[in-house]
Amino acid sequence: MIDGGCLCSAVRYHVTGSSKHVTHCYCGMCRKQHGAAFATYASIRRESVELRDPANALSAYRSSAKVLRSFCRSCGSSLFWSHDDSPGWIAIAVGTFDGEPDRTPDAHIFVGERPAWVQICDALPQYDKSVPPHEVKSGE
Ligand SMILES: [Zn+2]
Ligand SMILES: [Zn+2]
Repeated sequence: MIDGGCLCSAVRYHVTGSSKHVTHCYCGMCRKQHGAAFATYASIRRESVELRDPANALSAYRSSAKVLRSFCRSCGSSLFWSHDDSPGWIAIAVGTFDGEPDRTPDAHIFVGERPAWVQICDALPQYDKSVPPHEVKSGE
């Protein structure tokens, strides 16, 4: 069970399932959207995510042809990432979890775009571009 939400709490979510894959993504788009050196996302089955957004604060930006990034229009928190080719999955920004994630990170991705001002100091696998970043196939 995971609970989380945005900074102002207008958008809240409750996850009944578990994280399938957790990655630190260094791509330039995650960096810009999060205003941080990298973004950490947990891929979770969409059917196990319950959203509470009574004020309709969730807004979305299509950052590329098939990618949708959702955020709170009230406080600006980055919340969700999804890809049109994987409609059954949603990636949740782990920084918006209320507590600890249910899974430790699996990999660093898009390290080819890692800014020079952040170093990777652990032994997790590193991928230059994709791996199944946010693109976890169902059935695994
Ligand atoms: Zn908010
Ligand atoms: Zn990214």
